[in-house]
Amino acid sequence: MRGMTWRWLAFLLAFWASASAQPALPAFRPIAASDTVLVVSPHPDDESLCCGGLIHAARSVGAHVAIVWITNGDGFKWDAIVVEKKLRPRTGGYLELARQRQAEAREAGVRLGVDADSLMFLGYPDRGVLRLLLDYYHPNTPWRSKFTGANAVIYDDAVDPGAPYSGDNLVKDFNTVLDRVKPTLVLAPSLQDTHPDHRGTGLLVWRTMTARGEQDRVHYWLVHGGRAWPAPHAYHPDLAQTVAPRGLGMQWESFALDSDAIDAKLHAVMAHQSQMKVMRKVMLSFVRSDELYSTTPVPPRSSCAHALVCEQSDGTWMEEPGL
Ligand SMILES: [Zn+2]
Repeated sequence: MRGMTWRWLAFLLAFWASASAQPALPAFRPIAASDTVLVVSPHPDDESLCCGGLIHAARSVGAHVAIVWITNGDGFKWDAIVVEKKLRPRTGGYLELARQRQAEAREAGVRLGVDADSLMFLGYPDRGVLRLLLDYYHPNTPWRSKFTGANAVIYDDAVDPGAPYSGDNLVKDFNTVLDRVKPTLVLAPSLQDTHPDHRGTGLLVWRTMTARGEQDRVHYWLVHGGRAWPAPHAYHPDLAQTVAPRGLGMQWESFALDSDAIDAKLHAVMAHQSQMKVMRKVMLSFVRSDELYSTTPVPPRSSCAHALVCEQSDGTWMEEPGL
């Protein structure tokens, strides 16, 4: 018991030392009633993990908020295994998972105060977003998902049902969303995120907003920010979020959450029941006293002195939770 007490004390001291080592970050700009916020989420659950507190705060001051999901999360094998209770999920198992994750995403959006008609799904393939933008932009034959077997958007309630899986169509559909929402602020994954769908989504937003001359409206977040981040993997709404290893060198700002925003974010995260079954502690570790957003999608070149920042993605994301 005495050993346990000392180990616990040592853990607290080490944790306090690491938390206090982070200099205070500048504050994120206030959200005004005149703002229109668009959250771009690669999968169902990212919207709550990255931005649930800001979404609730924005709705509380009367700002308009819309969320667009790039995929319905129809390729997360561990999740499909849990849902279908088989080691080799069927194609239909992935579609069943997608329907469940889509319903959970809608519920999370409603819990954060977002209007139902401002929740949009593009329906592109889970684990295929980056490939669409790099190798399947104008393909002779569309990308085919190895999970669902589909080569076109298969969801009737998507923005463009039936669109063949190509980078060109993905950009077209995202532009349709931008024309519809007309955001003053866009929250998107950083290209530093280690998950390829997140990197692909960041690339999509960066390219498209730059082409529209609106890149200054985009702020970036990290969910797959490096091994074991956010530490500790536990519910600690009293702690400030730390800069992720993959985000070192970027220009981060802190958006402080009040108790209502923290409660709403927790409630939204817990709406993702299928994900909570697989990685509850990791998901709860995103509910902190603030959320961090960067004005830049990647660190400046000079930051490459830090190995983690410049490390190339070589597939190590597969060892991380599939948020
Ligand atoms: Zn994700």
